[in-house]
Order: sequence, then C-alpha cells, then structure tokens
Amino acid sequence: MSLDARKAKLLMELRSGGVGDKRVLGAIEKTPREKFVPPAFRAKAHDNVALPIGFDQTISQPLVVGLMTQALELTDRMKVLEIGTGSGYQTAVLARLARRVYTVERHAELLKEAEKRLAALRITNVTAKMGDGSRGWPEQAPFQRILVTAAAADIPPLLVDQLAVGGIMIVPIGSDDPMQHLVRVRRTERGSETEDLGPVKFVPLVGEPVPH
Ligand code: SAM
Repeated sequence: MSLDARKAKLLMELRSGGVGDKRVLGAIEKTPREKFVPPAFRAKAHDNVALPIGFDQTISQPLVVGLMTQALELTDRMKVLEIGTGSGYQTAVLARLARRVYTVERHAELLKEAEKRLAALRITNVTAKMGDGSRGWPEQAPFQRILVTAAAADIPPLLVDQLAVGGIMIVPIGSDDPMQHLVRVRRTERGSETEDLGPVKFVPLVGEPVPH
C-alpha cells in the first residue's frame, strides 16, 4: 500500500473512532508521523498503534492523539502547555491548531531529537524545555489549554493553578491497575470541574528530569 493510501486508511479509522473535528483531522493529515518514529518502525508509522521511541517511552496511538486534541477544543488564538514532548509528534499537531505551544519533557535526549524534528518541519511556534512537567511552566502561565501526555496519579494541582479561568486541561489519571481514565478539567471562577472521557493507557508521569 502507498504512503497516501496508508494515511487515508488511518484517517478513516480516526473518523470511525470518534474524531470528527475537521481541523484536528487536517492537522493530523499534514503532520508526517513517519518523521517522528525511529527508522526501524517507519513502516508502521501510519498504523493506529503506539510505537517505541526509546527510553521505555512511546509515541501515542494516533486515535488517542486525535481524541485528546479534539477534547481540547483549540482555536488558533490559544497558548497551550504540553507535558511530555516525547517524539514531538503531538506537539507538531498542537502547533498547527494553536497560537503557541510550550512543551516540557523530562528526558534531555528525547527533547533534543523532538526539537530537531520540529525545526526540520519549520514549525516555529513551539517553545520547549527540559524539566519536571508536573510543575508546569509558571513563568509562562496562564495557559488556555494544557495537555498531559503521561498518566498522573491525581490531577496535578500546580497545573490547575496555571490554567486560565475557562481553560481546559486533558490529563490521563491513574495507574495501570485497574485502569487509567482520560479526564477533562475545566477551570472555573471558583475552582474546577472534571469529566471522565473514558479508559486509556499511558506511560506514567514521573518526577525528576533525566539530563544528558
Ligand atoms: N506526545 C508524545 C508523542 O507524540 O510522541 C508521547 C508522549 S509519551 C506517551 C510520554 C512522555 O512524557 C515521555 O516522553 C516521558 O519522558 C514524558 N514524561 C513523563 N513524566 C514527565 C514529567 N514529569 N515531566 C515531563 N515529561 C514527562
């Protein structure tokens, strides 16, 4: 099957999996996932599966990227914080839909590779740093949207604090057992409201950064 045919099949799978937002589908269509996976996995880049990116980490399943991005309800005026840059693929999708993306990764090596890929694609509205993303990026807060791409034990309070009133955070919550759940947090004047978006499976959000 040609690259175009595999991409078209993947987009159909995303649509039937619940990604109906045309802007989100368009951003995924324009983002070359094959450039974000190690060479050994390139043939599988357009399969609807998570793939290894080294350091026991994964590039998320495209359907999950689609559903999480859609759940953020993004517009091109928004400032977004992403926790867990990984390969930079989700970052690139967000960058096509938002004004600016701030992204935090704890693995220096993964971050370096992701930054190279984003630069090669001439994506210029991303600012990245290494660190423990559960602390957010207070100097750049507030954010209209926050996306966490690793599972937290509980809703990280410092991230809720950095969400603008009216803002949305999407975060996987829980350990593997019994199940993690994708949660949408809406920041209100008085605090926050949460909504369960269903079961998911993510690598854990862990503390200390891993330098070079
Ligand atoms: N969205 C990524 C992509 O498209 O490739 C996949 C993210 S991967 C499932 C989760 C990432 O979160 C890993 O790269 C991991 O190193 C990172 N991570 C885990 N805990 C973190 C933390 N406390 N702060 C920042 N990054 C963290």
